[in-house]
Amino acid sequence: MTQVKNINGITMPNCKCGCWLTHLKKHNRKPVVFCAEIRCTQMFELEGALVQNTEQNDEQWYVIALCDKHRVATDELTIVNMDLIPAMEEPNCDK
Ligand SMILES: [Zn+2]
Ligand SMILES: [Zn+2]
Repeated sequence: MTQVKNINGITMPNCKCGCWLTHLKKHNRKPVVFCAEIRCTQMFELEGALVQNTEQNDEQWYVIALCDKHRVATDELTIVNMDLIPAMEEPNCDK
């Protein structure tokens, strides 16, 4: 489990992927199917949300997929154990 915070705390200009969900799907090694919240099985209307990891003291913003409910519900969320994808331009974003 991973604890994240600042859900929708900021917006950032998208990379060349066009939107953060596309960025997440491109760089995540596993398919992005469900909302990242630990108990949520919502598969529809997912969007990329920008979050920070509360378990590590870092300022990096990461992209996770959240349903419409969890995008607005809270400022702290427990999500499934996954590799967090940084919300930043990667060399292969334009591919
Ligand atoms: Zn990208
Ligand atoms: Zn959800």
